[in-house]
Amino acid sequence: MAGSLSRGMEQEMKSITIAGGGLAGLALGIALRRVGVPVTLHEALRYPRHRVCGEFISGVSDETLALLGIDAALAPAHRPQEVRWWSGSEFLGRFSLPEPARAISRFALDEVLSRQLRAHGGVICQNSRVTPVPAVGLVWTAGRRPAKGPWIGLKAHVRAEKLDHSLEMHLGSQGYIGLVAVEDGWVNVCGLFRVIPELARGSEPLLLSYLRHNGLEDLATRLQRVTWRQHSESAVAGFRLGLQSPLPGLMSLGDAHSIIAPFTGNGMSMALEAAALAVGPLHRYASGEIDWESACALVQQTTRSSFAKRLSLAGTCQSLLLAPWFRRPLEILAREQLLPFSLLFSHTRR
Ligand SMILES: Cc1cc2nc3c(=O)[nH]c(=O)nc-3n(C[C@H](O)[C@H](O)[C@H](O)COP(=O)(O)OP(=O)(O)OC[C@H]3O[C@@H](n4cnc5c(N)ncnc54)[C@H](O)[C@@H]3O)c2cc1C
Repeated sequence: MAGSLSRGMEQEMKSITIAGGGLAGLALGIALRRVGVPVTLHEALRYPRHRVCGEFISGVSDETLALLGIDAALAPAHRPQEVRWWSGSEFLGRFSLPEPARAISRFALDEVLSRQLRAHGGVICQNSRVTPVPAVGLVWTAGRRPAKGPWIGLKAHVRAEKLDHSLEMHLGSQGYIGLVAVEDGWVNVCGLFRVIPELARGSEPLLLSYLRHNGLEDLATRLQRVTWRQHSESAVAGFRLGLQSPLPGLMSLGDAHSIIAPFTGNGMSMALEAAALAVGPLHRYASGEIDWESACALVQQTTRSSFAKRLSLAGTCQSLLLAPWFRRPLEILAREQLLPFSLLFSHTRR
């Protein structure tokens, strides 16, 4: 722990600058402070803030959370284990996840983690946007980068939805949307759809327009009747799934490195796992054991080999999920409980 290191030892450590205070940046900052590395984190926005995210964390192990020192921050999360699937208005069935996930809003989680980082002696500069220029000691965790892509992500928190602690997944004609209970009685509603520029000109919330356009009329009607949380509606467009084109000379982690298809609920886990993989090499750099180039090479090697398989499988599964020719066979397989759910689950995680 940083507190147990002598001041002299800490002063000898080189410092790390983190650009982007989402999950990857905050978790990395906390973990580095726990081993005495001086950390300054720059976040473009202010906490707390809503982010487009399904808020369903699946795959990260208890060991990784403990290694990062953020297990207590995630302790209040709900632990959903059941997924209920619809295709359009047709109910396909219930599936049990091999292990419980975690559901907590980014509004709450990022705020708690930012306070934890400060409490550990990290410096956080809010409203501070960093330029992606390579620099020794700079880690890039600034999330999705603008890129031409066919997707739009939409989210809102709503109340008065009848929902137990399971995940609802609704497949539309050109996208999907998930509902999960987070804290304080709010339900997070978040989906990924193919962009239809004309829908932006409608008079109702964009989320509802996309639901109707995707044949999810019943869900749109349900959501029309409930209370929406102020300022929680968010949208993000113009990004690409999969490995991101590298920013030369920068150590990139989390979505800045690779974006997994959101239906897996594994993106936040990957951000945390990447932070955990980076702690060792960054600590060795900060202690003067290896140079910056070697630390970058080690991190790149381990993140690539840890994530390549799941990124590729998730991309294939998402294409099948949204392919019109596969919809009927998918519905039949799901109804008959013949989808290799556990196998897909484990291969899109580790
Ligand atoms: C529609 C959709 C649904 C999703 N659902 C899920 C889900 O259910 N489960 C799951 O695990 N994952 C989900 N994800 C993915 C998940 O949100 C990301 O994988 C995760 O947020 C990545 O964390 P990160 O820290 O890398 O980036 P982010 O959480 O995006 O954080 C990046 C931070 O950097 C800041 N920033 C940006 N630019 C700069 C700059 N220049 N300087 C300083 N700061 C900057 C941003 O303000 C932000 O706070 C979903 C994604 C989408 C699009």
